[in-house]
Amino acid sequence: MVLFTYIKESKSIIDETYIFKIDRRINMKKLFKCSVCGYVSEGDVAPEKCPKCGAGADKFEELSSEATEKIYRSDRTNAIHMEIITLAEKIIVLSKEGIEDNLDPKCLAAFKQAKDEAWTIKQRSKTELAGHMNLGKW
Ligand SMILES: [Zn+2]
Repeated sequence: MVLFTYIKESKSIIDETYIFKIDRRINMKKLFKCSVCGYVSEGDVAPEKCPKCGAGADKFEELSSEATEKIYRSDRTNAIHMEIITLAEKIIVLSKEGIEDNLDPKCLAAFKQAKDEAWTIKQRSKTELAGHMNLGKW
């Protein structure tokens, strides 16, 4: 029963990802980037005023179809990285609680290892996101 639930949940996660990708393809719109702050706006025309820095429409440049595709294409992966970072932070908090609880040496060692591994997972995803930002996949 537990296995069945797990498979069912895994399948639904995959399905949602698939639906998300299709939805993004169909709804791909023009993107305009603020040359002052880098904010990216979605729509048929540039916004009258940048929602981030207040710059006028004349400060916006329409992104090429290649740059637009990169941003839409990377949306889901970026969201997955952010979710992984959040989960890793939860593991770090839980591990610290386990370390403080200090039931026995084996648990202590396991929690210390989990804390270190979660840190690695968190930082690896952060590094990927930083790379995406530098490559316009954001
Ligand atoms: Zn701006």
